Amino acid sequence: MGKSDIEGKYALVTGSSKGIGRAVALMLGEMGVNVAVNYNNSKDAAKEVEENLHKMGVESFIVHGDVSDVDQVAKMINQVTKTFGGVDILVNNAGIIDDGLLIRMSDEAWDNVISTNLNGTFYCTRAVLRGMIRRRWGRIINIGSVVGIRGNIGQVNYSASKAAIIGFTKALAKEVATRNITVNTVTPGYISTDTVDVLPQETKDRIMTWIPQGHFGEVDDVAHLVSYIASQKAKYLTGQVISIDGGMAI
Ligand code: NDP
Repeated sequence: MGKSDIEGKYALVTGSSKGIGRAVALMLGEMGVNVAVNYNNSKDAAKEVEENLHKMGVESFIVHGDVSDVDQVAKMINQVTKTFGGVDILVNNAGIIDDGLLIRMSDEAWDNVISTNLNGTFYCTRAVLRGMIRRRWGRIINIGSVVGIRGNIGQVNYSASKAAIIGFTKALAKEVATRNITVNTVTPGYISTDTVDVLPQETKDRIMTWIPQGHFGEVDDVAHLVSYIASQKAKYLTGQVISIDGGMAI
């Protein structure tokens, strides 16, 4: 028996040098999936993920690309297509925050967050979709956020970008449903990563009161869900927004 029912497929995980993307890349590797590890700034960290994937016996390479830049995305997808022959599983994970109250929010803070989180998802998805349609198989898995559902003070830009991904998911799921391509969004709550771990203790204490389970999640909680959605078992699951947040979105 193989490592999983998607062994041998080819994946691209955007922003997989760190955090949730890294965990997703490694878990797909454990399933026998070959993974292109995209990074923007953290080349050494991406290299480490690639090495771990090689140790698992899957094909892997690092690929630079700022997802907010349409030309860099085109270059990145060309490189992945040349090496892998195509992308079967795209995980749109790369994302940033640039928090501040709307009344003081700069154009730059708005544009950066929308460009990376939303435009990046659009550029990467558009670039791989034709290949998926041709091969009649595909998984597009977007990483949204509980904040795109509930909203959060100081995160109007981020909430808007993540809420938009939900509409994107539902519309695209309908467009490609008959092509054996599923499109879903996972909406994590607060997950222990570099971004969350550096929050001041009083902010963490306040957030805890919003989480019925009373603690932050782990990157592998999200990676397990993404792995399921990527698998053949999830073939009838499309257009969905699935929360993994200790009950925060209830
Ligand atoms: P991290 O800050 O730990 O990692 C972010 C990753 O995204 C890095 O690998 C980074 O690459 C990459 N990245 C950032 N900007 C770009 C870009 N323009 N182009 C390509 N890659 C980029 O974040 P998390 O793991 O916490 O978050 C991952 C996703 O999960 C994001 O979409 C985030 O919004 C979402 N999320 C996270 C939650 C959490 O609690 N942690 C909760 C809900 C959602 P590099 O370092 O190489 O630049």
